[in-house]
Amino acid sequence: MVDIKQNVSLQPFNSLAIPSVATHFVELTQERELPEIIAYSQARQLALRVLGGGSNLVLADRVEACVVRNTLLGRTLVEEDLDTVTIEVAAGETWHDLVAWSIAQGWSGLENLALIPGTVGAAPVQNIGAYGVEVADRLVSVRAFDLQREEVSNLSNVECLFEYRNSLFKSDENRYLICSIRLKLHKSFSPMLHYGPLQALKTNIDLRAQDVFDRVVAIRQAKLPNPDRIPNAGSFFKNPMVTGAVFQRLQLQFPDLVFFRAGSGYKIAAGWLIDKAGLRGQSGAGGVGCYSKQALVLINPQRSSSRDVVAWSDRVRHRVEQLFDLTLEVEPRIWT
Ligand code: FAD
Ligand code: NAP
Repeated sequence: MVDIKQNVSLQPFNSLAIPSVATHFVELTQERELPEIIAYSQARQLALRVLGGGSNLVLADRVEACVVRNTLLGRTLVEEDLDTVTIEVAAGETWHDLVAWSIAQGWSGLENLALIPGTVGAAPVQNIGAYGVEVADRLVSVRAFDLQREEVSNLSNVECLFEYRNSLFKSDENRYLICSIRLKLHKSFSPMLHYGPLQALKTNIDLRAQDVFDRVVAIRQAKLPNPDRIPNAGSFFKNPMVTGAVFQRLQLQFPDLVFFRAGSGYKIAAGWLIDKAGLRGQSGAGGVGCYSKQALVLINPQRSSSRDVVAWSDRVRHRVEQLFDLTLEVEPRIWT
């Protein structure tokens, strides 16, 4: 029998350290526990919410739901040929540990995604990305429990509807519980070094995936706040994607605008917008504010409530809208 607890604090389980209580809480350790958890929730008309590492969440004071903390573990080599391996990894594994392990096996492809907090199961949800690589670039398929149909679904990469920091799992929130993912990695190494901080590695003729991994870890440790010391959820807003016309208007007004070509449009650096709006290093009620080394990261050093987090987020959005006539979209999921 699964152990479903009531009134459990979620503060230790979210990287913003927001004080929050789940009315019902259970740790999922085996897939076969799911039917019992679903039956329990249905009998009480409770929504099911899947919790990974809590590093992309803003939690309400009280979450009226059955919160299922995913702790499914396991890594298996499922296919191998001369050049590639396909591995299946359970959703509750820690993402960064998977990256480190894959490189130690001699498999490359995940090195740019080192030190992203959270679980493997959450990686496809917002199609995690960093330094020009997204999990969608390596993902073969997702094995998920469809909570609406009450059956297991195997979704191919295409069926996951991956976009920039988005997927089917984010847009159809709370429908799927991801149990495992399959990734295809390489035995040889083709580095992705086009992002500024990695370009210096291009001169290294013996470059290994381990070197890129080490560099990414070092940059991130220097630039991003460690959530254990300064609670945060990483980038709080998505970089806005704009059309050529909007881009031209902005560039005329702000010649120092930081932007990147993205498909037929442009990606504007949200951190730059917030900085330009004078909010980097500033804070509001409850001490919630924008991190001094990267304005895009919203920090919660006093472990204040979601009200203070949302109030600061609204203030940032309002200032950016006033100054640039651009709307910032919040990246983490908000559980009310
Ligand atoms: P949670 O926060 O627990 O959950 C996030 C969402 O995913 C929720 O909606 C939840 O219901 C859903 N979910 C979680 N697990 C499952 C599952 N098994 N099945 C179905 N739904 C599920 N993100 C990036 O993309 N790139 C970065 O470089 C990056 N850097 C970060 C740096 C810091 C310091 C921090 C704090 C965050 C950063 N993030 C980054 C954001 C975050 O780490 C990722 O989004 C991560 O994938 C979230 O994983 P999690 O397990 O903590 O998910
Ligand atoms: P950064 O290097 O200061 O760059 C600022 C922004 O410019 C980034 O958001 C990035 O977009 C974009 N960018 C930089 N170089 C680019 C290039 N060559 N081509 C296209 N876009 C470029 O960013 P940072 O804050 O230190 O983060 C470094 C990487 O880690 C980024 O990829 C970022 O997404 C990722 N990260 C994500 C989170 C999160 O929570 N989502 C948190 C921390 C770091 P992209 O964001 O599209 O890459």
